[in-house]
Amino acid sequence: MSLVTSKEMLLHALENRYAVGAFNANNMEQIQAIVEAAEEERAPVILQVSQGAIRYCGLELAASMVKSIAKLATVPVVLHLDHGTDYLQNIRCFRVGFTSLMYDGSKKSYEENVATTGRVCELAHTAGIPVEAELGCVLQSKDNVTPEEVRAAMTDPDQAAEFIRLTGADSLAAAVGSIHGMKSREARLDIDRVEAVRKATGVPLVLHGASGVRHDDVVESIQHGICKVNVATYLNQAFVRGMRQAMEDMPDNVDPRKFLAVGRDEVKEAVREKIRLFGSAGVVSASGGTVSKPRQFRSAELGGTEA
Ligand SMILES: [Zn+2]
Repeated sequence: MSLVTSKEMLLHALENRYAVGAFNANNMEQIQAIVEAAEEERAPVILQVSQGAIRYCGLELAASMVKSIAKLATVPVVLHLDHGTDYLQNIRCFRVGFTSLMYDGSKKSYEENVATTGRVCELAHTAGIPVEAELGCVLQSKDNVTPEEVRAAMTDPDQAAEFIRLTGADSLAAAVGSIHGMKSREARLDIDRVEAVRKATGVPLVLHGASGVRHDDVVESIQHGICKVNVATYLNQAFVRGMRQAMEDMPDNVDPRKFLAVGRDEVKEAVREKIRLFGSAGVVSASGGTVSKPRQFRSAELGGTEA
């Protein structure tokens, strides 16, 4: 099927208390792995590219690969810009057919964040394209952040309500305790804050930095308003692990496809695991329609709560 927008997808998730997996891809193999995993799990899926991925791959090529693979897919696929940090980046993605945008003004002043988010929304909404915004700031683990810094950067529910009212943003990346780029799963979320921000804003919330969050916290946050969960680091780890193992197993091989295919298989398994955790498995029927009541979580699928 053709690409769809994230608007209806996230509202359905909000209504039915599951989250759509938003998986970052940097190359063809990762895109294939993500879409194949979503098809096997019968899950709607958001394929997202960061500005770094766009620099690596080229905007036109990234967009056309996702469109081609989505066209053959039997589940709905969204092409989303992850952390577009300026207005023009959003416009460029809008022009090449992204079906979901993000303007991240979290490092700017509140006033500037409001103004630019509003401008991106104004343009995108003319074509029915939804926009994710960020308020508060999900920090980076490479900056060696302290727990105090994480807490100080969290989203304020009252300010979030005003922000959504002023900008018209369709979903909000809320800073609720996670950190980008964590390689181990030990971050705890402020679930009360998730609930408060959802109540104050009424829009679907997005969890960034989910690779480093304990599984039970991810599941609980979904019950309180998280509708999109971003996963990047965990998939990159899987891809590299697969390739590294393949290189060790086949030291004389010079066909890169043999290494890349093992990386792709590892990514696919990692995506399937996350889809089941987020409760979006089985949401799409065999005919491609959306099932209104997804399967409930089963504790055995939560994969434990280890760090
Ligand atoms: Zn992020």
